[in-house]
Amino acid sequence: MNMTEVVHALLTPPPIRVRTLGRMPPAAADLVQLPTSSGASSRGSHQLACARECPLRFAFRYHLRLRPRVEPPFRLAGTLAHTHLAYHYAEQLDDPSDWYLTQTLDEALAQDGAGNPTALREAAEVAEAYKHRWAGEPLRPHSVEDEYRATIGELDPDGPDPELDDEYISCKTDLVAGINGDDWVVDHKTQAGDHRTGRLRHWRDDGEFRINWQVLVNLMIIRKRVGPIRGFVINRVKRVAPFDFDRHPLPIPALAYQHAPRAARNYVRAELAIKKQIAAGDKPEAVYSACYGRYGHCDYVDVCAASSREEQTEILETQFLEG
Ligand code: SF4
Repeated sequence: MNMTEVVHALLTPPPIRVRTLGRMPPAAADLVQLPTSSGASSRGSHQLACARECPLRFAFRYHLRLRPRVEPPFRLAGTLAHTHLAYHYAEQLDDPSDWYLTQTLDEALAQDGAGNPTALREAAEVAEAYKHRWAGEPLRPHSVEDEYRATIGELDPDGPDPELDDEYISCKTDLVAGINGDDWVVDHKTQAGDHRTGRLRHWRDDGEFRINWQVLVNLMIIRKRVGPIRGFVINRVKRVAPFDFDRHPLPIPALAYQHAPRAARNYVRAELAIKKQIAAGDKPEAVYSACYGRYGHCDYVDVCAASSREEQTEILETQFLEG
């Protein structure tokens, strides 16, 4: 079964048949691999959120590992800006991470921005403006782009379904840093800004980060691994000229934060159920209310909106890569 056939099987009955002879291509192997529910599996907070939002999208992204051949420009700009900031802070570490020692900034940019000289130039400009804006800042990096993880049992001891206790949730943070005597998780957010004012949009404490799944999960995992962390800072970067930058510590909603460990357990249970469903050959649910969101459309909207299998085949073969 090739990649296209596997995707069609996800989109339409009949269910996928598990082949017992011969060598399966990687995509099919992914689909028939039974989920690990005995404590060996790990997933990031993004993956859990994806499973909750649309099981079909979860299957495309995390089982078939389909990604668009062409990154949307705003996403590429964000990736390149993050790369610059990661190296900017990593070079200040006394004990740099392995990724910093094994690949130079130029190599990382060449890899992420291959064939996009304009995006590379703009990312370099925003990085220079950022360093100028925050020159002499009191921020002292402790870790950059490091991954932390904790088990459900650590986060939510004595919860229901003890068989989930050994499942891991991981998070990758842009930065953990000391600022004026306290340690904070810092998350870089690149934004287009307000085209009328040329500035970042007006910050609102009751805006999109008022309750944010990634913030809640990352904070509870990093506190478990690192120790006392004062809170979470959104480091905003306007990615197009004229550049603009600011930072905002987030008020963490106390009740939501207390409930987050149990929510994490529930998310993992739901994710494992989807994996089991796929392994059994059932079609994961398509949640059409999730096709369009605040940051635009789902990567797979052309596939789901196709009017025939032939059209889907062409879209899959021309617009997506495995990896
Ligand atoms: S386009 Fe909609 S239904 Fe299809 S995978 Fe994305 S969110 Fe799910």
